[in-house]
Amino acid sequence: MPYEGAIYRPPSEANSLILQVTVGCSHNRCTFCSMYKDKSFRMKSKEEIFDDIDTYTNDFYTKAFLADGDAMLLPTGLLIEIIRRIRAKMPKIKRIGIYAHANNLKTKSVEELKSLREEGLNIVYVGIESGSDKILEKINKGITSGEMEKELMKISESGIKLSIMIISGLGGKELTHEHAVESAKLLSRVKPKFLSLLTLMLEEGTQFYNDVKNNKVELLNPEEILLETKLLIENLELNNTIFRVNHASNYLSLEGVLNRDKERILEEINTAVRDKDYIPEYFRRL
Ligand code: SF4
Repeated sequence: MPYEGAIYRPPSEANSLILQVTVGCSHNRCTFCSMYKDKSFRMKSKEEIFDDIDTYTNDFYTKAFLADGDAMLLPTGLLIEIIRRIRAKMPKIKRIGIYAHANNLKTKSVEELKSLREEGLNIVYVGIESGSDKILEKINKGITSGEMEKELMKISESGIKLSIMIISGLGGKELTHEHAVESAKLLSRVKPKFLSLLTLMLEEGTQFYNDVKNNKVELLNPEEILLETKLLIENLELNNTIFRVNHASNYLSLEGVLNRDKERILEEINTAVRDKDYIPEYFRRL
């Protein structure tokens, strides 16, 4: 499958057909992120997308994933046509997922999201990064926590599964407590089906990198990252959320269902902190 630039996809889409329906990120201004800096945002045309589907799909895949960063910005009608085409060409497809920036969701009504679910869109992945307005402003996320909550609730209301990603360490030492507590508050209100944590990777060339080098932000060490994760989990009130910390950027792998497995996960963090048993820095990557 042709793909412009590097491929980014959630860990759980490792075996999916990755179909690039937009190129880059329409926002592209978050201070820590260099993922799409080399790409100018554009929506691919229906002809390009259909050509990719017709040429590269095969019977092997049971899952498809629509990328890049904010594929949800495509008009609903076109997304429905894409989903129908994928399902027609790949009858074994059981799940279709998509990336969305929370701001993209402002372009979709609950009714439109319901139509997408009825056509076969199963899961939306949203990197909210933090529930703290102070941090969202500092990283230039372009949206507030309250606005995100409103948009994320639309996903849940539509019946599409919601998967949320948070970035551990994003507030640095100064805002680590705020990051954990405010993120937990937002997550407890939204109650996503899936929650995953990535850990901040410092990338040269970003504003965040410069802020660290100029001592404007002090990064957390592995132990502090785990203590932040512990505080986040302690403050979560979830019903049946599948929790995964299994990204290559993380210092410790964790998984379970929250709140059911809260005590066991907290104990695993305590043990890792006590034994200083972290994944080494040189193994970490985006
Ligand atoms: S973090 Fe997401 S929204 Fe922000 S610039 Fe990167 S891809 Fe775009």
